[in-house]
Amino acid sequence: MADSSCIFCKICAGEMEADRVHEDEHTVAIRDLNPGAPTHILVLPRKHVATLNDLTEDDDALVAHIHRTVRTVAAKDGLTDYRVAINCGAGAGQSVFHIHFHVLGGRALSWPPG
Ligand code: 5GP
Ligand code: ZN
Repeated sequence: MADSSCIFCKICAGEMEADRVHEDEHTVAIRDLNPGAPTHILVLPRKHVATLNDLTEDDDALVAHIHRTVRTVAAKDGLTDYRVAINCGAGAGQSVFHIHFHVLGGRALSWPPG
C-alpha cells in the first residue's frame, strides 16, 4: 500500500522528480541524490515495505525480481563489479523507510563499509 508521506512512494508514482534509469511493473530505479560512487543507483520496489525486517514470504518473488533489476541497471552503466547494499534500521544508516537496494560501482570499493 502506498504511504502518502513516503518520498520513495511519491517517486515511484511519478509525483516527485528523480533521475529514473529503469522502471517496470514492480520496480523503479533512480540515481541517488547524493551519490557515494560514480554509479549510485537505488532500486525501489513500487510496493511500500518500510524495512528488510518487514518483508514477508509474500514478497519472495518481488525480492528475486529486485535482484534482476539490480543486474539490469548495473549492466546499463557498464558495471561488472559492484556492491549491493541495504541499510536496515536507523542504527545501520537507513534514512528513508521504504526498502531500497543501493547499487554502487565505478570505483574501487573497500570492505568492510563504515
Ligand atoms: P538510506 O540511508 O535510507 O539507506 O538511503 C537513502 C538514500 O536515498 C540516500 O543515499 C540518499 O542520498 C537518497 N535520497 C534521499 N532522498 C532522495 C531523493 O529525494 N531523491 C533521490 N534520488 N535520492 C534520495
Ligand atoms: Zn514508500
